[in-house]
Amino acid sequence: MGKARGEGPKAGRKVRVAEAIPPDLLEFLRDVAAEMRSSDEDSPAMNESNDLLRAEHCSGGLVDAERQVFHFKYFPKGGPWHWDFEVTASEILDVVSREGGTLSLYRCSDKACGHRWPGPAARCPQCDLGEPLPATTPVSQGPVGPAGRPRGTRLSPEGEAARFLTLLLERGSVELADGVDAATLARSFAPLLVAAGPTDAKAERIINWLVEHEKIEEVFLRDEELAKLLEKW
Ligand SMILES: [Zn+2]
Repeated sequence: MGKARGEGPKAGRKVRVAEAIPPDLLEFLRDVAAEMRSSDEDSPAMNESNDLLRAEHCSGGLVDAERQVFHFKYFPKGGPWHWDFEVTASEILDVVSREGGTLSLYRCSDKACGHRWPGPAARCPQCDLGEPLPATTPVSQGPVGPAGRPRGTRLSPEGEAARFLTLLLERGSVELADGVDAATLARSFAPLLVAAGPTDAKAERIINWLVEHEKIEEVFLRDEELAKLLEKW
C-alpha cells in the first residue's frame, strides 16, 4: 500500500544516549503521575490519546492503555529542538519517586542536531529529510490543554479561561484581532466557562459571545464541536 512510508529517504544513523530529565520535564511527569493515581476514570492519564496531557513545554498522552505506554513530545526551553519519546507508567512513577533520572533516547549522528528520538528508525526532518530548522519552538505560550489539571495547582477561573481560549486558538477554531491575546480576553470569558448548566446551552452561549466579540475576528467552530471540548475540559 502506502508509498509515503518506507520509500522516503532512509533514517540516518542514530546514537543511543541517556539524557538527564530537565526540571520542567520532571515537573510535567510529576503531574502525569498525579493524574495516573487519580480515582477519576476520565483522567487524561487513563484514556488513550495523543494529546490529552499537556503543559507549556510538553504534550502527549497514553498511546497504549494495555501496555501502559505514554508518548510525549518535549520542547526544551530556547528551542528549536524537540524530544520525542515513549515512557511506561512504571518508568514515570520511578522517575517521580526518585525526583529525577534519565531517559534512554536516540540522537542523530550530527552532534549539532538537538532532536532526540524514541528509536533508531526515526527520521529527522533536518538531518534525514533536509527540511529547514523551524525558526522558533512550535510550542504555545503559557500552559495549555485540557489536561493540565495537576492536583494542588488549580488555576483561577481566569487562568482556566485563558487556557481554554489558547486551546481554541491552537486548534484554529478562533482568530483574534491584531494585538489581542488569550490573556486579554480571559477575564470576560471566565464567567461563561465556569457557568453551571447543560453543556449544550453553555456551548451556544460561548459561541454567541465569540461571534459577537469585537476583538475576535473569526470563529470556525460549531456548537456541537465546542460542547465536546467542554465535556473533555
Ligand atoms: Zn537530526
